Amino acid sequence: MPYTLNILPCRTDNYIWLFHNTRHAWVIDPSLAAPVLDYISQQGLILADILITHHHHDHVGGIADLLPHLTGRVIGSSQRIPSLTENLTAPTELTLSFSDVRVQMLATHGHTYDHVSYFVPNAFEHPILFCGDTIFSAGCGRIFDGDNAQYVETYTRLMQLPEDTLIACAHEYTEANLEYALAIDSSHADTRTYNNEVKYARARGEPSLPSTLAREKLINPYMRCLTMEAAWVDALTEFALRRGEVDVCIRSPLDAFTLCRKLKNQF
Ligand SMILES: [Zn+2]
Repeated sequence: MPYTLNILPCRTDNYIWLFHNTRHAWVIDPSLAAPVLDYISQQGLILADILITHHHHDHVGGIADLLPHLTGRVIGSSQRIPSLTENLTAPTELTLSFSDVRVQMLATHGHTYDHVSYFVPNAFEHPILFCGDTIFSAGCGRIFDGDNAQYVETYTRLMQLPEDTLIACAHEYTEANLEYALAIDSSHADTRTYNNEVKYARARGEPSLPSTLAREKLINPYMRCLTMEAAWVDALTEFALRRGEVDVCIRSPLDAFTLCRKLKNQF
């Protein structure tokens, strides 16, 4: 049965991802209920399951008002989301309600200590990763109660997914992330090209997402940290020194990731 993927912008820069067949809809991180309810009523769809990546308000804020319309489950992996009807331990696999679609819930700790992502290998033309605030295009999430080492472990595992995996992030942060990436490595051709594409899309009011894993491996500063790409490590070192860091010595992917994340917080 074919599935259709939709992106519903809301708040300042949040995206709610929703996919559906001809009868049911499944939604990821409903920040607000209204965009979901508007969409499913326009399309004549029944709300099946809600999938939650983490407890932050701008990812769970719409759950309460969706519950009266819900025919399936509220799925997540956190003690901090009281409205879950199914609290799973990641990594695990589940089947969506009213469907035979299999979903892998992956532990993607770092932004928070209990963040999870949902990998759907087979329902669409390409695999898709609903990654909440874990990967942003050309970036990564701010570290709240997770840590850099968790984040490095998460990115290392996610980089093993198929190259054509669509990366469905929960925020439109791409332009700001690219500004930071180019401040470090202004001559990087792939980043410059992508920056032009994103600016063009955003000027027309279009989302820059989903991205792909193949693209992120080329241009995402944190993935370039993990591969210890020589040109990137040199550029990051010089940038750090210009920003007043002393004794900059990048010896490992964790060193590079930690420095890159720290300097972004100050950018
Ligand atoms: Zn968050």
